Amino acid sequence: MNLQAALPFLLPKAIAWAERESQRIANSGRALTEREQKLAREVGVTRVEQIRIALVDALPLPDDPELRAAALQTGLLGSDTAGLTLGYSIFVCEGYETVRLLTHEFRHVYQYEQAGSIADFLPGYLQQVVEVGYANTTFEKNAQAHERES
Ligand SMILES: [Zn+2]
Repeated sequence: MNLQAALPFLLPKAIAWAERESQRIANSGRALTEREQKLAREVGVTRVEQIRIALVDALPLPDDPELRAAALQTGLLGSDTAGLTLGYSIFVCEGYETVRLLTHEFRHVYQYEQAGSIADFLPGYLQQVVEVGYANTTFEKNAQAHERES
């Protein structure tokens, strides 16, 4: 798939999917512990009490065939990915709930906060993903730079 060409068409579907998944976890995920709230504040999050974490067997994948194919092609939701942040909602694969992964995902929460919403964050983020690749986006590098070991 030519992701660059497909992005304008996929973007509204990606936003709708992300908002739906985020809402699902807002209702069912767990809140942060005191310790985790402190870590989230330390990497820049303002509204730490809004964050919810859901432990999952596998990250969610869109039902929409094209959106699903694009997510897998970019590596965003591939088998190498253990965490996914959508607004204040964080998906973590079972067995990967480390301080390092959590601080990385908290920094993505901060990035969403800076943008204002999922609908405001995803256009710039996904544009970069298709241009330079998921691992090379400024957002990913910024999250990596804020990972903590403990
Ligand atoms: Zn990341």
